[in-house]
Amino acid sequence: MAWQFETDPAFEERLTWLDRFVRERIWPLESIVGETPQPDLDRAYASLRGDAKAAGLWAPHLPPELGGQGFGQVKLALIHEILGSSPLAPEAFGCQAPDSGNSEILALAGSEEQKRRWLEPLLAGRLRSAFSMTEPDSAGSDPTGLQATATRDGDGWRLRGTKWFTTNGSIADFLIVMAVTDPDAAPHLRASMFIVPADSPGVEVLRDVPTMSHPQESFGRVANHAEISYDDVALPAAALLGEPGEGFKIAQQRLGPGRIHHCMRWLGVSRRAFDMLCERALSRQAQGGTLAQKQTVQNWIADSAAEMRAARLMTLEAAWIMDRDGAAAARTEISTIKFFGAKVLHDVLDRALQVHGALGYSTDLPLEAMYREARAARILDGPDEVHRQTVARQILRRREPAAGAVPTEHVPSRRPRARQLLAELTAGAAAGEPV
Ligand SMILES: Cc1cc2nc3c(=O)[nH]c(=O)nc-3n(C[C@H](O)[C@H](O)[C@H](O)COP(=O)(O)OP(=O)(O)OC[C@H]3O[C@@H](n4cnc5c(N)ncnc54)[C@H](O)[C@@H]3O)c2cc1C
Repeated sequence: MAWQFETDPAFEERLTWLDRFVRERIWPLESIVGETPQPDLDRAYASLRGDAKAAGLWAPHLPPELGGQGFGQVKLALIHEILGSSPLAPEAFGCQAPDSGNSEILALAGSEEQKRRWLEPLLAGRLRSAFSMTEPDSAGSDPTGLQATATRDGDGWRLRGTKWFTTNGSIADFLIVMAVTDPDAAPHLRASMFIVPADSPGVEVLRDVPTMSHPQESFGRVANHAEISYDDVALPAAALLGEPGEGFKIAQQRLGPGRIHHCMRWLGVSRRAFDMLCERALSRQAQGGTLAQKQTVQNWIADSAAEMRAARLMTLEAAWIMDRDGAAAARTEISTIKFFGAKVLHDVLDRALQVHGALGYSTDLPLEAMYREARAARILDGPDEVHRQTVARQILRRREPAAGAVPTEHVPSRRPRARQLLAELTAGAAAGEPV
């Protein structure tokens, strides 16, 4: 039976190269990204992408026939752990959200024509995409209540509704929109997905919603979250992804791997914050010694190390199950790491920030930005509460209620059987006789 906790040496070498590349060529850019005009950033990315392609690490999430590497989820998870250490790195390797998830949707559910028109230029970096499902007026955590509709119009469709938190919606060339196509169908068969060109008449980006991550209102920047009105948008039949009613099925196929990638990227962030925590603990003197000598700080270090290791092993196990048995088989594991990984990320960042005192709270360090960004992890791709609910339901599905009025382990009720067993075991054997 193979039970290994190591990566094959050839792949480990590529991870080592990737780690050094991200630290030396990408981390330094973070401190000036806010003041750099987008065209300059685009040129810098073009150069970094050339290096990623030369290293055979471009679009690692896709199969080789689509220009990717076909690594599978475990190797992909290890790559995402490194890329996650910088918010800029995934874009340089062609696996930035939401384009990576959208390219997986197109690869899975797109027709040959849809792949040619949208997927190929997306992978080549010539187009940008967004995923537009969440609405201001219905609960995103329960998409069976979606309000946007797409109704038949001849061969095509008419799309109506308002969406928000469409990441990259204001800079996207096309949007993948989820809308109700059959309100009378069973809840998970009501909605479908459509490819909507951003310049379609009736598509209006109302604003980019300011958030904890970008408190100042801005428009048209990467990673902004758009509020978009779809006002009677005419769509051809060819805009439909998959079959009518397959929206949820496609969304699940996208979200499973996406959550593993998120969790591994969060570990990359956690690792960076943890390194800062340890460095500061060893450097800062207070009350007769370094912070590293205080038990509270030691507890933070030990707890963080243990929690990150647990989250990492759980995430790799989920990836391994996905590779072996498919996404559906890993449903419980994926939901578990989604809420557990988000908490580990938050707690490690919180401790790293705290150990730096006022400096941690200031923008002189990246920790405050990492912390604000991290808060979203507990909400996006399904809030913690929903994932906990999924895990609990899956576990309880394999359990039974107690057969009688008291719990199975009720001690007084077990005693008669215990006495009977004792009598059976001792019958025939003289007391004190060696066995
Ligand atoms: C940074 C960021 C980026 C995002 N990007 C995108 C994107 O690109 N495209 C897109 O379509 N959406 C995106 N979203 C939206 C995200 O998917 C939703 O916010 C999420 O699904 C929750 O939906 P909601 O905000 O409507 O909250 P609601 O569904 O209204 O839930 C609010 C709260 O209710 C509680 N709750 C809900 N259900 C339960 C339950 N069963 N038991 C107990 N408590 C419960 C939870 O505490 C939850 O946080 C993004 C969100 C964020 C924060």
